[in-house]
Amino acid sequence: MTEQQTIDIARLPVMGEAAQQSYPTATLYVVATPIGNVTDITLRALHLLALADVVACEDTRKTGALLQRFGLSKQTIAAHQHNEREVADKIVERLQGGQRVALVSDAGTPGVSDPGARIVDAVRAAGLNVVPLPGPSAAITALSASGLVNDRFHFVGFLPAKPKQRESALALLARETSTLVIYEAPHRIVECVEGLVATFEPARQVVFARELSKMFEEIHRCALNEALAWVKADQHRERGEFVVLVEGAAAELDAEAAEAERILQILLAECSVKQAANLTAQITGRKKNALYDRALEIKGSEG
Ligand code: SAM
Repeated sequence: MTEQQTIDIARLPVMGEAAQQSYPTATLYVVATPIGNVTDITLRALHLLALADVVACEDTRKTGALLQRFGLSKQTIAAHQHNEREVADKIVERLQGGQRVALVSDAGTPGVSDPGARIVDAVRAAGLNVVPLPGPSAAITALSASGLVNDRFHFVGFLPAKPKQRESALALLARETSTLVIYEAPHRIVECVEGLVATFEPARQVVFARELSKMFEEIHRCALNEALAWVKADQHRERGEFVVLVEGAAAELDAEAAEAERILQILLAECSVKQAANLTAQITGRKKNALYDRALEIKGSEG
């Protein structure tokens, strides 16, 4: 075992580097903040927040409390879902006056299932500078610990709350081959899992990333047909914050089906329906009857 090391953060030479960087005035800084553990804030975020003339935030009390944890006291302005457009104009005015404005949300990265996009849009439209400060995001944090091996993911965010709309949204995702990343409010986690079970194959892997970076963090991976039992096994599970990841649809099946279709179409131009179906079955190993039905469909659509 290697010797355990400790770090005196305040004495790290790198601390000074955050201060040496350039933080132009008349700029909107989009600042990611912790999703649970307050010490996940970045050095650059801290430095910028200290430098900012004003902090635009979803909830002025929450952000005020966060700033206080770092010994900062700043003017804050409310920038939430219901006033984003109007506050965007005020932020543009401040930027035109040469201020540095920090934009944060309650947790994580602004503009990702959070307010922020409209403000950034207005600032860009006014020809002003926008600088993002990267940091925590629940989606990326969950993906990093999921062990789901797939280079691509599809960010779904929150599913619609109404059952019919949720059902339609999930149906549209059924053949998506990327890992699905879903955000869910604690009081809807059971309905969410019921929807997943009704839509996707039972063997698909699902990962629950609950209370990330907090005291009761839990990351659980199981087959979809075991998911509901897991959520219901402990009543605390219906209280925490969740990212739910769902393994994408099997890509090889889609690729194989596309290849069989291509072969069938080539052979149909030269042979009878029966011969084309038989030969495609021999070449691809797929079911003769299904190929025969498909060949009839193709012939039928040709008139
Ligand atoms: N902007 C944030 C981000 O960058 O991830 C997302 C904000 S969104 C309003 C809140 C949702 O993010 C929660 O309902 C949950 O799905 C997810 N989330 C936020 N913090 C989380 C945490 N600590 N653990 C698990 N999920 C979390």
